[in-house]
Amino acid sequence: METLDAPTTARNRDRAAATVAATPTGLLIGGEWRPGSAGDELDVLDPATGDVVASVAEATPEDAVAAMDAAVAAQPAWGASSPRERSDLLMRAFTALMDRQDDLAAMMTFEMGKPLAEARGEIAYAAEFLRWFSQEALRIEGRYGIAPSGANRVLVSPRPVGPTVAVTPWNFPMAMGARKLAPAIAAGCTTVLKPAEQTPLCSLALADLLGEVGAPDGVVNVLNTSNPGPVVDALLHHPGVRKLTFTGSTDVGRLLLRSAADQVLRTSMELGGNAPFVVFDDADLDVALDGAMDAKLRNTGQACTAANRFLVHRAVADDFTAGLAERMRDMVVGPGLDESVQVGPLVDRAARDKVERLVGDALDRSARVVVGGERPDGVGWFYPPTVLADVDRGADLNHDEIFGPVAAISTFDDTDEAIAMANDTIHGLVSYVFTRDLDRALDLVDRLDTGMVGINRGLVSDPAAPFGGVKQSGLGREGGSEGIWEFLETRYAAIGTSG
Ligand code: NAD
Repeated sequence: METLDAPTTARNRDRAAATVAATPTGLLIGGEWRPGSAGDELDVLDPATGDVVASVAEATPEDAVAAMDAAVAAQPAWGASSPRERSDLLMRAFTALMDRQDDLAAMMTFEMGKPLAEARGEIAYAAEFLRWFSQEALRIEGRYGIAPSGANRVLVSPRPVGPTVAVTPWNFPMAMGARKLAPAIAAGCTTVLKPAEQTPLCSLALADLLGEVGAPDGVVNVLNTSNPGPVVDALLHHPGVRKLTFTGSTDVGRLLLRSAADQVLRTSMELGGNAPFVVFDDADLDVALDGAMDAKLRNTGQACTAANRFLVHRAVADDFTAGLAERMRDMVVGPGLDESVQVGPLVDRAARDKVERLVGDALDRSARVVVGGERPDGVGWFYPPTVLADVDRGADLNHDEIFGPVAAISTFDDTDEAIAMANDTIHGLVSYVFTRDLDRALDLVDRLDTGMVGINRGLVSDPAAPFGGVKQSGLGREGGSEGIWEFLETRYAAIGTSG
């Protein structure tokens, strides 16, 4: 892909490279940066070029045990720290992250490809989790009452759940780390973070920043590995671990739930989605098209919240399809470090191969290409914004996450059919509904089997709101006033009174 604005892109590349150079590349264990015990390293690749951006230390299962030992050792003091101390730490981290927004955004684009404007947005989104949970740390409340019999008092007090394993995906490499570390810190839990192998740098930078603003040694530990199975297994079977918080695919989530069962760990699972995007015949089509672009193209379609299935009322299907095709055709595709680019590369070759396979399957059945549909030649894992119409219900892309810039449009005739189609999936993360009828919108909020619903809006993520899914999209919620409870246990004491 050609760079459109070469001088600015070169400056951004220098900024990204300087940020990489300033980011530690070791394992962070007990406040110390060290090489992996086997001496191996893992390469980080720029998806726009395939070039190596950095090499970071590769963890072994022995390193995992050492990291969890450090988290367990740090837990008593951290669990006993004052809410104000934890709150102030998170607030300092918020400020430090925002101070470095441009540098860290450039590094994020370098390691995973998203356009710079989106990377800046993600740094701000990640920072908001730090600020939100800085405030939540101060509002962990219990209760005190009299037992119905009058024989004793009842004291209920929340306690940190304890040492936590956090496993994160590559698609929001800073925000997913912050969304786990911030509530863990606020609640008084220590953590071993295991980021995705494609994107170790953002997590290393975040952990470094947390140390700089005063996180005590062992409160945040980080391990990277290209072979996550044995490393995560060692963490989940350490006798001191109490919790797993995972964001990633449903397949890996199921595996980790099985491992977590061995020691009956608390689990929070943010898994895959298959979001329906439902457009009724009374929708404001411009609003629906704006929402479609947000819900489809954010992160080049690589979001768990990405609209995966466009279900459009037959009466407006042609207009919606033509409008979406026009907008998708106008998008500027290229390397994310170019400021004019709106759609970056996919994260790696496997991601692009999957998108190509899903499009091929849809075309083999009944679909037709309205725009896009062919990958470009040249370096980088690019795929053009694509609109497919007349997509068969049985097509694989109606059941698998596409995770790419492909909008697959099917039609419906009435509300019941739309709801049946929307709910016809094992997933239940988010759905989007476009209608001007308030009664219908509220009816759909009740009848759609998803943890979140966007009404006339293509973005739902908000640190102040509970993010999460139902069915095989997950367990638990992140963010909102609910998020901190994922990291707290409820302790009850029955207090006898003498006399
Ligand atoms: P993934 O499941 O392949 O990987 C996620 C994490 O699990 C990575 O850190 C990876 O190293 C680790 N992992 C992979 N195999 C493992 C194993 N056998 N044992 C232990 N750990 C293992 O997912 P991904 O490709 O990084 O991310 C994309 C997926 O994440 C999509 O399905 C997307 O929908 C989902 N996601 C969900 C949310 C949400 O909040 N619900 C948010 C972002 C992404």
